[in-house]
Amino acid sequence: MKKLLFSIRNLLQRLVGPVALHRLRKRIVRRSNTENGSCGHAERWIYIYPTFACTLKCSYCQNLHATGIHNPLEQCTMTPRAWAESINRIGRHVVISGGDPFVYHDLPGIVNRIAPHLKVVICSDLSAPGTLDALRAMRRPVSLDATYHPSSGKSGKFLQTVEAARGLDGIEIALHSVAAGKAVKFLRRTQKEFLAKDLRLNLVAAYGDLAFEGSRQQQRETVYCTKRNINIGPDGKRYPCLTKTIRMQDPLCSVTAPGIADDMPPHLCNDFGHCVPGDLEEVGMRIERLDGRGVLRPC
Ligand code: SF4
Repeated sequence: MKKLLFSIRNLLQRLVGPVALHRLRKRIVRRSNTENGSCGHAERWIYIYPTFACTLKCSYCQNLHATGIHNPLEQCTMTPRAWAESINRIGRHVVISGGDPFVYHDLPGIVNRIAPHLKVVICSDLSAPGTLDALRAMRRPVSLDATYHPSSGKSGKFLQTVEAARGLDGIEIALHSVAAGKAVKFLRRTQKEFLAKDLRLNLVAAYGDLAFEGSRQQQRETVYCTKRNINIGPDGKRYPCLTKTIRMQDPLCSVTAPGIADDMPPHLCNDFGHCVPGDLEEVGMRIERLDGRGVLRPC
């Protein structure tokens, strides 16, 4: 299946060119994210990663992609109060992702302190012990973007958690699953199981199955990269992009620093080609080549 996808990608790249192909994929992913209410929020959001730890080890995990290991080393130096105070001061809606945020020792402690006018989205696979207890302890509206990963086994436990969570006040749930390799057939059957319980499970392409320019390449290239998203790592530092947040490489400033909500100026990066695919989905990202081949991704 993987080989077939690579052949299709190569064929399409030859027919329409890599840039057009990437844009087409971006449009599909963005539409799917909008439909799902998932983590594809464009602007005026802040993305925080209180932990990169996770109970699963999926082959297509972006953490694995960025660092070569599933649970990258991290220093969780931010308390729940410090997270919430920073988010409230910045005043943007927040996506809490990871890793699995429910592995963080006190997720309700962050969520319950966030100002009521700010939206909160939590991206999770719902596999961590204590997930339901944490959800029950949340006292404000939360959108849960829950992902079922077929590599974690049959969907029974996930489904149980979803059903219990949707009975809780203030919890809204969108479900998706990563359609990777041989799992696609299995997931079609799983979708029917979910539908029988009145739940819609959207299938999205696995990043690992879709190599494209900027990601999963042999060589690194130096480019000018312009990013707009604000990504804060487990140590409370802002990083230039998701790739570097996961690697905890080239921190810019602390989340407590004034002016953190400003857009970042273009900066030189020599890691293009080894970016995680999630970075290349960012709306407004711009890559300019130094060798005269021009702008790869205009805003
Ligand atoms: S080129 Fe890739 S690794 Fe470098 S800053 Fe941009 S997104 Fe991050």
